[in-house]
Amino acid sequence: MPAKYVIHTKMVPHRFEPITRSGVIAWEEGCLKCAVCVKTLCIYHVYDHRGLNAYQMIDSIDNECMNCFRCVQSCPKELIHKSLNPEFEAIGDGYWIPNIISKLWYQAETGKIPVSGAGYPGPFSGPGFDSMWTDMSEIVRPTRDGIHGREYISTGVDIGRKPTCLTFSRDGKLEGEVTGIINIPLPIMLRVPSFGSIAPETVKGWAMAAKRLATMLAVSEEMVGPDLEDFAGTLVPIVKERPFQEVGISGKHAMVEVDRATAEAASREDIARAGSSVIPVVTMPLEKGIEERAFALVKKGFSVLHIEGSRQSTFQDSPSLFLKDGVRAVHLKLIEENARDQVTLLASGGLAMAEHVAKVIICGADAVYVDFPLLVALECRMCRRCRKGLSCPVHVEEASPEWVALRTINLLGAWHNQLLEVMGAMGIRDARRLRGEAGRAMFFEDLDESTFGSLGELEEGYELE
Ligand code: SF4
Ligand code: SF4
Repeated sequence: MPAKYVIHTKMVPHRFEPITRSGVIAWEEGCLKCAVCVKTLCIYHVYDHRGLNAYQMIDSIDNECMNCFRCVQSCPKELIHKSLNPEFEAIGDGYWIPNIISKLWYQAETGKIPVSGAGYPGPFSGPGFDSMWTDMSEIVRPTRDGIHGREYISTGVDIGRKPTCLTFSRDGKLEGEVTGIINIPLPIMLRVPSFGSIAPETVKGWAMAAKRLATMLAVSEEMVGPDLEDFAGTLVPIVKERPFQEVGISGKHAMVEVDRATAEAASREDIARAGSSVIPVVTMPLEKGIEERAFALVKKGFSVLHIEGSRQSTFQDSPSLFLKDGVRAVHLKLIEENARDQVTLLASGGLAMAEHVAKVIICGADAVYVDFPLLVALECRMCRRCRKGLSCPVHVEEASPEWVALRTINLLGAWHNQLLEVMGAMGIRDARRLRGEAGRAMFFEDLDESTFGSLGELEEGYELE
């Protein structure tokens, strides 16, 4: 059995004070000047060393307060209040919501799983991944001594064309070589986001992280400069507007990514020739009918397909359809055509939480690319100022490669642990077995249909009493 894969994390502090969900408001007017002011009773002593970060105009109390509400409840004149921070509410957008962003910051800083306390106050269903529930029934029999205990849970996956059978000689030795396949120890690869205040040093930091994590980093070919020479084996150059015949001729990279149009124009001979030196990955925008196009590419000889959803995890041509639906459709089509096991499906787009990784694998992906969480790990607020050519409020471009690498490793460490928790709770010991295990999940649309489908369609103008 191979050695256990463990991601070692350590505290990597923020460079800027994060925007907190709430702030403390302490009115001076009406203060009785009590001999023992409630502020002196704060067990975290946040009032004792209160200060103002003049650069960011942030009161230190907002970040240090642990929300115990002792001072709020004890002030006899009720002069101390906690209030929601409007700046926090304004971070991100409708998909990359403040809670997701702040949890990503926390994971990148600490490498720990975010815990939100007992109970769950949010809605039980929503669009996309929120309409899926994973089956944690094995949680009644958790691993004996935790996710890093004696029981072995493998998160390793294979990328490339898997052989349909192996041939052995009479003395039991494997005949021939298994080529065109690589193994990564976690089903997550990195991908440089499509926007961000990104400098060559930032990309170098991500490449360092990918190498230390033993995974891959997809990066546009133009960004692969001499600085990244040491990381060639870890990089997946994204090649654009070049004929397929030229793909992989440098021989430096194990994988190369091409767009769908280039792949569709390639001949079978070119695909076979490229396949002997590099694994070509075809990026397909997630659009209606993707399953037919995916199968056509597989028939042509491609074995690694990357399904790219929008940043909000929807189809690129239909915001009411989601990445999970597209991945399921392609996965089931390949099963129907008896081609699934030879193909590796990668998915990306709107994967913002560790649970999304587990869910998209359950829908049929073998592995994922994460992109924007890598940027948020560097304190990005998803404000999109950089897209308009404006300065970045947290100067992502000035971060050192080592800091970028450590923050990225922390984030992936926290996600890896969550994946182990989910798999352990499901009783699944191998990420390869999680792929397509739709029986381990419940889908809102299926439950809705089985529970209320017999009631028929509601006619227009009809009102429930
Ligand atoms: S709410 Fe609790 S932690 Fe926050 S300032 Fe008041 S006493 Fe301190
Ligand atoms: S914080 Fe805003 S400007 Fe900076 S990288 Fe993120 S989206 Fe771009």
